[in-house]
Amino acid sequence: MKLTPLTANTFASDGGAMFGLVPKGIWHRFCTANDQNLIPQRANAWLIECDDGKKGLLETGCGDPDWFSDRERTHHQLEETWLLPQSLEKLGVSFEAIDFIILSHAHWDHAGGLMDNDGNPTFPNAEIFLREDEVNCVQSDDPLLFKSYPPKIQETFEKLADRIFPVPDEEPEFLPGIYLLPAQGHTEGQAGIFFTETEISGLEGVKTSALFTGDNCPTQHHLRMVLQTAYDTYPLKTRAWKREWFPRIAKDGVLLLFTHDPEAYGAWIDADEKKEYVIKEIYTGNE
Ligand SMILES: [Zn+2]
Repeated sequence: MKLTPLTANTFASDGGAMFGLVPKGIWHRFCTANDQNLIPQRANAWLIECDDGKKGLLETGCGDPDWFSDRERTHHQLEETWLLPQSLEKLGVSFEAIDFIILSHAHWDHAGGLMDNDGNPTFPNAEIFLREDEVNCVQSDDPLLFKSYPPKIQETFEKLADRIFPVPDEEPEFLPGIYLLPAQGHTEGQAGIFFTETEISGLEGVKTSALFTGDNCPTQHHLRMVLQTAYDTYPLKTRAWKREWFPRIAKDGVLLLFTHDPEAYGAWIDADEKKEYVIKEIYTGNE
């Protein structure tokens, strides 16, 4: 198996919202905000090339910016073009060639690329995999989750219902070597996507396990327990998840894959007495 990083979109988020309870006096030391307090973000995605020739995408990003209202585009400083198609084209991969899509969760900046502006599936041959709990959350009509799963995401899930395959926790290995594991916190149904052994584009000869954590650890600056986004639906679960997983990630040399880091696609981390966890080796991709 081989993973190749892709930039799906670039956008910006409120710096305070990205670091939750931590005051700006601290987070501005490692993240520079603009005059509107926005910090740069990427919607990162990955091309997955399986040993049997199947091709998949991990995440679709925000999708075509035309999806969004002018207000939303301005608010998120969304680039005018959806970068994912260009990134795939550079690799010679067509939309038709994508056999499956994995989503960590169904927020707009992860699932936004599933459907095109005409209401058709962007990737016509792709089956879509998420944790069963996340599909249930999208379909729950829970008014408290209105902001998490707005009408356009619900509409996407209705239109693509026959292509969406909920992955139950009892059988998390939905493809050989790829697991969808519970990573609650940012959302109730979020998945951590674990690859038991994969090559990484640009790193010759390296075979590593890798874990995509969705928004439980969106950037290289979210390694400390308390550094978590204000968008987390269940903040303490995010911390509990980090407490459970980070020791293993550090000890076993798992490559941590970042969903929104504007500079890095991933990193290997080390435990640290003072700072909890620190970057051991950063992976910035080969773009
Ligand atoms: Zn996100």
